[in-house]
Amino acid sequence: MINSNIITLIYIISSVLFILGMKRLNSPKTARSGNLISSLAMFIAILVTILDNSTLKISWIIIGLIIGSSIGISMAKLVKMTAMPQMVALFNGFGGLASALVSSQEFTRIFNIGNHTIYSVSTIIISIIVGTITFTGSIIAFLKLQELITTNPILIPLRNILNLFLLLITISIGILILITGNHLLIYYLIALGLIVGILIVIPIGGADMPVVIALLNSYSGIAAAFAGFALNNTILIICGSLVGASGLILTNIMTKAMNRSMLNVITGGFGQQNININKDISKHSKPFKSIDTESTSILLKYSENIIIVPGYGLAVAQAQHSIKDLSDILESKGCNIKYAIHPVAGRMPGHMNVLLAEANIPYDQLYDLEQINDQFITADVVIVIGANDVTNPEARNNRNSPIYGMPILNVDKAKNIIVLKRSMSTGFSGIDNELFYQEKTSMLFGDAKKSLEAINKELKLD
Ligand code: NDP
Repeated sequence: MINSNIITLIYIISSVLFILGMKRLNSPKTARSGNLISSLAMFIAILVTILDNSTLKISWIIIGLIIGSSIGISMAKLVKMTAMPQMVALFNGFGGLASALVSSQEFTRIFNIGNHTIYSVSTIIISIIVGTITFTGSIIAFLKLQELITTNPILIPLRNILNLFLLLITISIGILILITGNHLLIYYLIALGLIVGILIVIPIGGADMPVVIALLNSYSGIAAAFAGFALNNTILIICGSLVGASGLILTNIMTKAMNRSMLNVITGGFGQQNININKDISKHSKPFKSIDTESTSILLKYSENIIIVPGYGLAVAQAQHSIKDLSDILESKGCNIKYAIHPVAGRMPGHMNVLLAEANIPYDQLYDLEQINDQFITADVVIVIGANDVTNPEARNNRNSPIYGMPILNVDKAKNIIVLKRSMSTGFSGIDNELFYQEKTSMLFGDAKKSLEAINKELKLD
């Protein structure tokens, strides 16, 4: 056992490191070191917790650490960037499960030794309710994103009333445990928490799933913070609160960028109205203009101001290095290149920044929506690479559109627009994009990486 003052001091140092690490995550320049600092904080926290607890069997801890770290390292190496939301969903789910398990164990312990107070039991109950909901909710989110179950909303009649009713019963059981001290009721609490988790996530469509994941991330933090209160563990309270608060802030940023309210996301149903667009370009019903790589390279060669809009398709095609090559070639020909980054382009916040950083695209060429939107009017060409929803003018023009009001990149204001994608199919929201049918838009069909490589080849021939 270490002196409790020293433990508290080390926990405070570790918490400060966590906060510093998180602060550095807000820019691609410092994100790597931010991650390292946070990992160091976690290492210190784990080490001190182990050293402070004489009853722990070190061999079990080491086995757990080896198994956990091996799974973590292999997942981080194997999972593709495009599958990151699913991975985060699993992390959240297991975080919630861990808090619920730790709290359940503490619950059994305090009832066995007859040392249960209103404070300890109530914090444990909250941790178990939130932890179990987070666990099954996150597993459903994972299954939907991995397309192991339907990504469409599953709409049970009167679902919101049913969910509210079950949630109230769960909370009532918690209160009953507090009043009667009947600790066997905890099994009902756990079962109901698991059921509520499933029911609140199944009505939510695939398009809203990343927002739900940010929300579940916040829940996993809340569950951990309450487990911290139950165990009287300072670092768990601080870290849980940090995760809880940052998850909520992220959810807020994402819902704003999609022009949705949190309530609207939670009550589900968005994304049912998918328009059936024929993937076969030749059978597409509306007229559009297509272009080949040779004409694209000629147009680019005679342009001065070029804005590149990356989207989810860039990540799928892994075209970040090809886009860097294109930028380099065009810059050597005297073009000004800027990248327009929409806050929800891709499938997770910061997705595009990470991809472009991987290809060493200079940060000062990346512009946020607010910074770039007035500049599209002066752009000779905008190259849209695998982006769709974030460029859809319907969000501005069509009051009846499900995405009406979502801030979009004003790509349609540019003089020429070239869209790189494989077909006329829709993006994540399932809504047709009116940009593709405009007079000044040309569609360059094919995998983004292959199209870019072909353009680069043409440009190098000059
Ligand atoms: P979209 O999902 O709207 O569109 C992506 C496009 O990429 C598709 O139309 C697809 O067309 C094309 N594509 C796919 N693979 C390739 C490929 N190999 N080569 C070329 N093109 C390809 O992406 P956006 O980035 O524009 O928008 C993101 C969407 O995700 C928004 O609806 C946003 O609300 C949602 N979302 C994002 C979150 C985030 O945090 N980033 C969170 C929650 C939701 P085709 O099949 O024809 O090739």
